Amino acid sequence: MALKTAAEYIDSLRQMKFTAYVLGERVGNTVDHPLVRPSLNAVALTYELAHDPSYSALLRTTSSLTGETISRFCHLHQSPADLVAKVKMLRLLGQKTATCFQRCVGMDAINAVDSMTFEIDRTHDTVYHQRFRAWLRQMQEQDWTIDGAMTDPKGDRSKSPSQQADPDMYLRIVKEQADGIMVRGAKVHQTGALNSHEILAMPTIALSAHDRAYAVAFAVPADNPGLIYIYGRQASDTRKLEQGNLDVGNARFGGHECLVVFDDVFVPWERVFMCGEHDFAGVLVERFAAYHRQSYGGCKVGVGDVLIGAASLAAEYNGASRASHVKDKLIEMTHLNETLYACGLACSTEGHPTATGTYLVDLLLANVCKQNVTRFPYEISRLAEDIAGGLMVTMPAERDLSNPATKPWLDKYLQGVSTVPTEHRLRILRLIENLTIGAGAVGYRTESMHGAGSPQAQRIVIGRQADFAAKQELAKAIAGIKEGCEA
Ligand code: SF4
Ligand code: FE
Repeated sequence: MALKTAAEYIDSLRQMKFTAYVLGERVGNTVDHPLVRPSLNAVALTYELAHDPSYSALLRTTSSLTGETISRFCHLHQSPADLVAKVKMLRLLGQKTATCFQRCVGMDAINAVDSMTFEIDRTHDTVYHQRFRAWLRQMQEQDWTIDGAMTDPKGDRSKSPSQQADPDMYLRIVKEQADGIMVRGAKVHQTGALNSHEILAMPTIALSAHDRAYAVAFAVPADNPGLIYIYGRQASDTRKLEQGNLDVGNARFGGHECLVVFDDVFVPWERVFMCGEHDFAGVLVERFAAYHRQSYGGCKVGVGDVLIGAASLAAEYNGASRASHVKDKLIEMTHLNETLYACGLACSTEGHPTATGTYLVDLLLANVCKQNVTRFPYEISRLAEDIAGGLMVTMPAERDLSNPATKPWLDKYLQGVSTVPTEHRLRILRLIENLTIGAGAVGYRTESMHGAGSPQAQRIVIGRQADFAAKQELAKAIAGIKEGCEA
């Protein structure tokens, strides 16, 4: 069976030789680095729960390529039921980690590249699809974590890739040779990059013939010596370097993003899945984005469940849970959260097969899903902060709670209802802080805005998919407008 245990996953990453920098220092072992480890724990849970009988039905499936039992994260969706199971799996993992567990980007990338390579071959008489499927088989057999790498730095947004003052602002082919290609550039905001075994790179925008050198998709081992990882900061991240586990809010799990530099990386042909076919860059971006916009109707909902639970506890712990406005705020948070889930499910059940048999979500509904995600978690966070009260941002440190000189004062004056220990109250407030303005807010708030594309990117697709002409015909029929035959 191809499924790794969490321990095997962690061991496999320990074998890798990343060139990584965290807080200005070169780090040899990222696995045990206190800033990185919580994010690794979140990915490791995707391996752990695949072996848990309570959850394995969601996390495991049967490979359409080999018939073997594999992780759903390495799977090509074969039906609307598969797409629905994906959303449910992501909600579950959001509930269990209360953060970004990072592994979905690769899942979304393989599903997009699968149909895209088939269609390129059909048009250009190339052999990308069989190469891609051979590589994907290895991924399934090894149960690897794949980093889907799409977002380029983009430099001056008013200019195309080839018009940039610095030609490396979009990842590009610098040389084609007999045995492969050389690529140079960078990918920004790379979720879970240092917790991945493989990088699957793709273009970030639709491209014209002038930008042919930027139409490139390929896979490389994540510890390729030409890759340089520079770790992203998060609010309050250095709390992870302190002793204790209260002030971080979420002690076990976190997410991470890196700037990944491709410093003249060689890619052998068998790992190249697009090389100059600029006419397919737009299709690939649209499909990957749609899958990832569907994903947010699962993962963000799971994290939202935790935040709603935390807000509800905060109210209980200070004796406000019976107030009608508090109940109503919790209902509003639930309504918003379940609306996101409904969108994730809707774009899945309305999915359809591509030419390879791999299912694609409904583009319009997936983009509506993500558009709502750019708004609702903000309102859910606002309501959580409202219920939590100001103590969330004024309470003393965990070290004050363990200092005998201050602990009695904190225990006495920061208590809410007398039956709940003060420490429990403070833990819940720190969790709300983590999710709304701390390190966890990267995944729950700002990523809700910009991850899988900023709001305007969804509005462009919604406009394209809206079919206003068909709606006009509906209106004309009802209004009795018959063109060409004047009354
Ligand atoms: Fe997965 Fe959500 Fe993180 Fe994207 S933001 S990688 S969908 S958990
Ligand atoms: Fe994301």
